[in-house]
Amino acid sequence: MQRFDFRFDLRGTDRATAARRGTFQTPHGPVETPAFMPVGTNGTVKGIALDPLRATGAQMILGNTYHLSLRPGEETVRELGGLHAFSGWDGPILTDSGGFQLFSLAQMTKVTEERATFRSHIDGRLIEFSPERAVAIQEALGSDVAMVLDHVVALPATPEVIADALERTLRWAERCRRAATRGDQAQFAIVQGGLDPERRVYCATKLAEMDFPGYAIGGLSVGETPTEMYACLDVTAPALPREKPRYLMGVGTPTDVVEAIARGVDLFDCVMPTRNGRNALAFTDQGPLRLRNAKHERDPQPLEADCPCPACRHSRGYLRHLFMAGEMLGPILLSIHNVTYYQRLVAGARGAIEAGTFAEFRARKLAGWKKPEAAAAGSGEEGFAPELP
Ligand SMILES: [Zn+2]
Repeated sequence: MQRFDFRFDLRGTDRATAARRGTFQTPHGPVETPAFMPVGTNGTVKGIALDPLRATGAQMILGNTYHLSLRPGEETVRELGGLHAFSGWDGPILTDSGGFQLFSLAQMTKVTEERATFRSHIDGRLIEFSPERAVAIQEALGSDVAMVLDHVVALPATPEVIADALERTLRWAERCRRAATRGDQAQFAIVQGGLDPERRVYCATKLAEMDFPGYAIGGLSVGETPTEMYACLDVTAPALPREKPRYLMGVGTPTDVVEAIARGVDLFDCVMPTRNGRNALAFTDQGPLRLRNAKHERDPQPLEADCPCPACRHSRGYLRHLFMAGEMLGPILLSIHNVTYYQRLVAGARGAIEAGTFAEFRARKLAGWKKPEAAAAGSGEEGFAPELP
């Protein structure tokens, strides 16, 4: 198979922050960065059909190796033409390796140097995942970007446990690299190391020596404070090669996305827009709105006056009514609005980096979100739904 050139063109960097504007080439088209990938766990971004999904501005989506290997099984997906043909999404797709789900969803996960063994959360079946198997599944799925299998530890853990998992993550990354056979699939390595700056830099440096086409920062947004996460990014991002894309896994709130862009992150994925949309929470530049709140009952305004999404053709009162009446259109419309919101946010960041105004963009967005997000941390009702795996 001919080797595709997964080039990352760094088109500009911000002067006041570490924000970067780039273009990442994939066999299914370019991805303009910073970019946000909606999560399509089971080969679908929940509740959003393909045409409205494209209309949100999403360029690349994420599929879950763990879920798709259990159901319908990667061989079924391969027989039906791979994940692109199977799902109908003809743009770029990234698949995770299953590492995160192995240690969050699966039951009784046991790790040896050779592999992880666990019971399926669906039917309790005993399943084995090795680095080579994670590569083989993702090659059967045929994603544009595959992730290496990493050993994720539940925190808090002793320094010995964290160090042991970190060394295994490095050895497993090397095994994944050796196992890869597809020239049209890029493999990204994953930096682990908890919140310890030295371990993060060590892991990033070791992985950079292996020369992967891209690097992810994993193991964040798992219960640490935003300040701790940003401090971790401050040391990890500069330790990664400048000319390769950087992907922050599973993050986050709009604030987290903007703060991570300011620290040099290029790619994001998170279930926040869709999971919160299903729970009647809409993201806006004035902070999140909880539509079940009675104050929206007779509100004639759209969620956002300048949003082009189909939800914003309706009033907040109507959208609230859909949720109160248990109509499936409510979760669908709010999911579309929220994914559109994240896409407009990263598009705004790209434009601001190009124009040299990212610092102002960041300050303006943070000021708009400040009040409700402060409330979310305390007793206010307009909070975010907690993030789950
Ligand atoms: Zn909208």
